[in-house]
Amino acid sequence: MIYFDNSATTRPYKEVVDLVAKLSWEEFGNPASLHSFGIRAERILEQSRKQLADTIKADPEEIIFTSGGTEAINFAIKGSAEALKRSGKHILSTPIEHPAALESLKVLENMGYEVEMLSVDGKGFIDTGELKKKLRKDTILVNIMMVNNETGVIQPVEEAGHIIKAGNPGTVFHVDAVQAYGKLPIDMRRLKADIMSFSAHKIHGPRGVGMMYLRNGTKIRPIMSGGGQEKQYRSGTVNVPGIAGFACAAVKKVGQMDQDNRNIIMVRERLISELKKRMPDRIRINSPEDGLPGILSVSFSSVKSEVILHALELSEIYVSSGSACSAKKNSISHVIKAMNIPAPWSDGTIRFSFCGENTEEEAETCARVLEDIMNTFTL
Ligand code: PLP
Repeated sequence: MIYFDNSATTRPYKEVVDLVAKLSWEEFGNPASLHSFGIRAERILEQSRKQLADTIKADPEEIIFTSGGTEAINFAIKGSAEALKRSGKHILSTPIEHPAALESLKVLENMGYEVEMLSVDGKGFIDTGELKKKLRKDTILVNIMMVNNETGVIQPVEEAGHIIKAGNPGTVFHVDAVQAYGKLPIDMRRLKADIMSFSAHKIHGPRGVGMMYLRNGTKIRPIMSGGGQEKQYRSGTVNVPGIAGFACAAVKKVGQMDQDNRNIIMVRERLISELKKRMPDRIRINSPEDGLPGILSVSFSSVKSEVILHALELSEIYVSSGSACSAKKNSISHVIKAMNIPAPWSDGTIRFSFCGENTEEEAETCARVLEDIMNTFTL
């Protein structure tokens, strides 16, 4: 099979699966327990926290574990808005965020917050000049993703952070780094983000594990009530085997990031050149050239994306139409709409997303099968 759907989820590394299984069986203690079995689990938890913090040059104290990217994003947006509501109700974001952010913002809007969207251009980029203009004294939160999951567009979050902190130091800046982590360098000493969200399963870690980076001193109100784990920020028994698996995957993925990226660029380039050679007038590349190499959005003319997706599946080639992680919807994605991609193209949008294990031969096979599909469906 050819798996080109790595932005939906990745296959966990074998050593991650082995570690999670071993710890689930041997170290099932609760890190909150006072006995030595619990203390052993706590040690594993804190060692994992340190390993993960090191991958983003953060202090381990600034890492809070969650059940995934969605929970981290919900917590970041709802928790910081609640903590800062006395300073204002204005929030800035972009229309191409993941549904975890967009739906959280809708909840806040219904509660009386004023959510304003920055515009994006045809490639999905925000305009930092517009951010500067729209930032107000009562802006309590700015929410921008680092890499878009459907097109791979990389937002200028470093510049945005400088603009926000220069304009209004009290504004909390949250960055969804779910698709960026392990693929782009992230250095919390340089980035002026107060909160960042991460997920394990996009980097060959286990599903249902994530983390939030919370800069020391950032105000946030917990959204989960309970036993007060994770320094009162996130109640609930901590998933020690999953977190250790996350740390194992992160150390490996971040360590081989450059090598993986070099390989991914070759796979991407090969797929683009084969498609251009085989069907030059029938494709439109939606992803920017300087986007994340691992995500490639292509629109095909006159054939619906679901038809292409299922036809590829018959040859055991797995891709996504729009974004699989936002549920099985048939409508045109909000990202493609926000980028104003014209109607005949927007219906036939496919996302190819690669990992370090994909090959150029797979890209060639995929393009060949796509050529047959396009010929079949336009006869
Ligand atoms: N943010 C982005 C950009 C994503 O691509 C995803 C993927 O699903 C998420 C957030 C949600 O992460 P999770 O699946 O860990 O809840």
